[in-house]
Amino acid sequence: MEPQTPRIVIVGGGFAGLYAAQHLARQPVTVTLVDRKNHHTFQPLLYQVATAVLSPGEIAAPLRRILNRARNTEVILGEVTGFDTAARTVELAGLGEKTELPYDILIVAAGARHSYFGHDDWAADAPGLKTVEDAVAIRRRVLLAFELAERRAYLTGKRETPSFAVVGGGPTGVELAGAIADIARRAMARDFKAIDTTAARVTVYEGAPRVLGAYPESLSKSAEKQLRELGVTVRTDSIVSAVEPGRLQVGGEWIAADVILWATGVAASPLGKLLGAETDKAGRVKVAPDLSLPGHPEIFVLGDMAALVDAAGKVVPGLGAAATQEGVATARNIARDLAGKPRVPFTYRDKGSMATIGRHRAIAEIGRWHFTGTLAWLMWALIHVVLLIGFRNRLMVMSEWAWAYLTRERSARLITDLADDPQPPSQPPPQVP
Ligand SMILES: Cc1cc2nc3c(=O)[nH]c(=O)nc-3n(C[C@H](O)[C@H](O)[C@H](O)COP(=O)(O)OP(=O)(O)OC[C@H]3O[C@@H](n4cnc5c(N)ncnc54)[C@H](O)[C@@H]3O)c2cc1C
Repeated sequence: MEPQTPRIVIVGGGFAGLYAAQHLARQPVTVTLVDRKNHHTFQPLLYQVATAVLSPGEIAAPLRRILNRARNTEVILGEVTGFDTAARTVELAGLGEKTELPYDILIVAAGARHSYFGHDDWAADAPGLKTVEDAVAIRRRVLLAFELAERRAYLTGKRETPSFAVVGGGPTGVELAGAIADIARRAMARDFKAIDTTAARVTVYEGAPRVLGAYPESLSKSAEKQLRELGVTVRTDSIVSAVEPGRLQVGGEWIAADVILWATGVAASPLGKLLGAETDKAGRVKVAPDLSLPGHPEIFVLGDMAALVDAAGKVVPGLGAAATQEGVATARNIARDLAGKPRVPFTYRDKGSMATIGRHRAIAEIGRWHFTGTLAWLMWALIHVVLLIGFRNRLMVMSEWAWAYLTRERSARLITDLADDPQPPSQPPPQVP
């Protein structure tokens, strides 16, 4: 490494940060990628971990391994806690020590989480899905709900199947609800003797008049129909106004639910505010057309943390595809800086979007074309396998899907850390006499 090469610090090894690092690998720069996790997570497949289709290792890969061939790049495990933009340093914590990382160019791509709209205390009873840990915790709640119902039915004869409430009818909510209904109706049905898992109630609560509001109306309708065919109840125009252990309030009515999952709202990483930048309501940084921080051409903010209407007048969505393109575009602009060329404003290329509903149903919008049902699911499966990081992961995911498809089995149906708390946190204590 040349000591005089520009030092680039990238905060976040998600889609934006990772693709920026990969595209800077051949530039005359020194790259330090910092993440509080040691792995990159393929978030679009998290719901499959949460519903026991895939194991965590199949959708996540160590950052150090992904970048091991990039000779100019070091991966550092740690939590970024602040910046000194005047001194050009990043504050780094974690692993029991605090330190500072100097930079010449800074890329901040720390992503976003769900927003509880000022009620962060609901998170304990209605967890969201963002990380591998979240997915494993949700999987545990979902599987424990069935176990508890079975135990009660066996011991007392009271055959109550569990109920699941999914708050938010966006892609994550629709995918979670469809997959839970699917495992209840198929994968679980033969394994439980005392309860009828196919009678499990899954309800999606969506505040807007339709699910998948960002999609054309015909696809929303199709998604709703496909959900209903799986036995999911869809309640639109239903705003959740309170959450407590084992129940949620919808329009003044309290509804019991054994497991409540949160899949709505966006809150960008607090690091945006720590940059001293202007942010929108969701905490996203209002970036310049080249994704830099206004007044700081040496700082870029990318992915779910950035708010931008692109050069073509399109609002750039909070999607993996947009974050990936932003990472690549930023690496190219840095290369242009080094070559003394002017930067190019970012333009988002919309290659389409899709959401799955259960085992072989989906909706897809690709340009003017709309697809539904099995064809959309096949397209979804193909694209997601291609986009997964790592050949091994692609192979494993394909074989898991083929196995699940042929046998209806879910090989990742494991409940871990059972010993200390054998009940789903949302539920009141079991009343087994
Ligand atoms: C459940 C789910 C399903 C989705 N499905 C789809 C889909 O089907 N298609 C699609 O296009 N998009 C989908 N998305 C959206 C997509 O995943 C995001 O838009 C994308 O991940 C954003 O990329 P990013 O690089 O901005 O942030 P992220 O991918 O979230 O990465 C942020 C990284 O920053 C790290 N980090 C955060 N804070 C700190 C800190 N203080 N210090 C150090 N490191 C930090 C995190 O550990 C993480 O690795 C989905 C998202 C979710 C949650």
